[in-house]
Amino acid sequence: MTENISGRRIEVAGIVQGVGFRPFVHRLVKELGLRGWVRNTNFGAELELVGQEESIEAFLSKLQNNPPSLALIEFIKSEKLSEIPNYEGFEIHSSIKSDSITALFSPDTCTCDDCLSELFSSSDRRHDFPFINCTNCGPRFTIIKSLPYDRQYTSMSEFPMCDKCLSEFSDIENRRYHAQPNCCHDCGPAIWYKSADCSEINSHEPILKAVSDLKAGKIVAIKGLGGFHLACNLKSETVIRLRERKHRDEKPFALMCRDIETAKKYCIISEAEAKLLKSPARPIVLLRKKDKAKYMHISENSSIGVMLPYTPIQFLIFAAENEIDSLIMTSANLSDTPIVHKNEEAEKKLSGIADTLLLHNREILTICDDSVLREYGGREYFLRRSRGYVPHPIITEKSVNQILACGVEQKASFCLSKGNHLFQSQHIGDLKNIETLNCYAEQIEHFESIFEIKPRLLACDMHPDYLSSDYAAKRAKQDNIPLYKVYHHHAHLASCMADNGIVEDCLGLIWDGSGYGEDGNAWGSELLIGGYRDFKRLAGIRQISMPGGDKAVKGIWRLGLSMLNEIGSAIEFSDVSEFEQSAVSALLNSSSRLNKCSGMGRLFDGVAALLNIKSNCSYEG
Ligand SMILES: [Zn+2]
Ligand SMILES: [Zn+2]
Repeated sequence: MTENISGRRIEVAGIVQGVGFRPFVHRLVKELGLRGWVRNTNFGAELELVGQEESIEAFLSKLQNNPPSLALIEFIKSEKLSEIPNYEGFEIHSSIKSDSITALFSPDTCTCDDCLSELFSSSDRRHDFPFINCTNCGPRFTIIKSLPYDRQYTSMSEFPMCDKCLSEFSDIENRRYHAQPNCCHDCGPAIWYKSADCSEINSHEPILKAVSDLKAGKIVAIKGLGGFHLACNLKSETVIRLRERKHRDEKPFALMCRDIETAKKYCIISEAEAKLLKSPARPIVLLRKKDKAKYMHISENSSIGVMLPYTPIQFLIFAAENEIDSLIMTSANLSDTPIVHKNEEAEKKLSGIADTLLLHNREILTICDDSVLREYGGREYFLRRSRGYVPHPIITEKSVNQILACGVEQKASFCLSKGNHLFQSQHIGDLKNIETLNCYAEQIEHFESIFEIKPRLLACDMHPDYLSSDYAAKRAKQDNIPLYKVYHHHAHLASCMADNGIVEDCLGLIWDGSGYGEDGNAWGSELLIGGYRDFKRLAGIRQISMPGGDKAVKGIWRLGLSMLNEIGSAIEFSDVSEFEQSAVSALLNSSSRLNKCSGMGRLFDGVAALLNIKSNCSYEG
């Protein structure tokens, strides 16, 4: 058999640190009777293995096909060693680091099955522990201050591990080996409950108290992974109260259901959708309502956003005496400001909305809203890519320069590139709000610092009034680097190409609300031909006037009037003042130049107004 012995040097790139990769390798190597060593590097990990050729092949195939659940393997390079080293056993060598850090880290993920069974086992030392986690689950992105991903650089640095936790952390055979947020009842964070006016504080049974209040129809602010949620039961009087307090008239709320079976009471769920709901990222998945006419107080649409619990606190709430099976769960923020994530901030800002607060002292360092997506053909289509996905990079074929791309102003996010990685930020919000704009700038700084990116180039939307473009212009001046302005729909074409791995020029049919076009009008239903570098517009739908400019985005009756005016007709809207209607009609018939638009969203809005579905809308999407 000795002639079958060989040696291999293996490089693994991707997210392999802080995800239980080395214990995984250790177990596998033992199982397959291999010898050698492993160590972390800047790009991931490298190892040398000696043993039976077929065992090494089996190792590589398991690594490729069945890696630890939070690992993201970009590539595995393996090379035969010309001389076979004489290794005795298997060792973990200390990490090597050089100047250019490209180490990646994992998003926050849902509590894993192993942790859940401990959470609910009365004999386990972490029974009912609201911060249970391990190498395969728990907070990451939202608790990291800087890299490398070590406890001392996270918000867990304030909680030194007790002896028991430390021995788990140091034992390669343990599933909490190098789990940086590892903790227990004795050494971990604490949870408490208080009324919004601070008159009553309950630290004995905070979760049970929250459950009984939720049942009784109170609105409870619950601290989550990337910020606070406002939670309440589904009864219409409770939901109406939440809408009034949050000044949110129509926008649908998301549901958190105990499990898939419960979610099926409200929605039709395909296997692919169920898979996404149960995935470690636990996004909000838009699902078709079983009965369109039902639950109108939660969502007036035919679909409803549903997610499953993902933090130990949420699991404990749903498990508490089996009292609650579904809750409204909405981001705790005030009209377009960033999600509330600090305790003091919650006490101050949410006191007029929430009746009570479920708080804890593990600090959230980076905000991160829930992700929202739709499933189509087994793939995820994001409406909002945030918790559970960020900061996983989008991997490009070719290496790219270090670029900061600033994106749009509403539903803002940004993207930073380095090497083959595009780091798209979490959802940040509408930059017209000063707090959100500040948060946007802070997050750019945070991403640049953790991924060690110093932009050599800036890109922004061509729109002259976007605050994101304004930020980019200031940065370009301050850092003395070039700024490229990109047409909105060209950016859509290019990002869709990148998403689908297309490199050749292609045709792109782009339908959206609106984006600044070459003629200065708001485009939105365009047929383009082009690639990453440039584009040509081949066609678009007929443009209509937007009387009142941006006012027509919410006052959609204006678009209805504009459409009819084009064909020399008119209509009256019973729920809009006569004065306003005649002013808009006069504007449409005057010689003044009005902004025009060809947005598919605007077309739908105008038609909705003409069909008498509604004259005004308060949100988009
Ligand atoms: Zn776990
Ligand atoms: Zn402990």
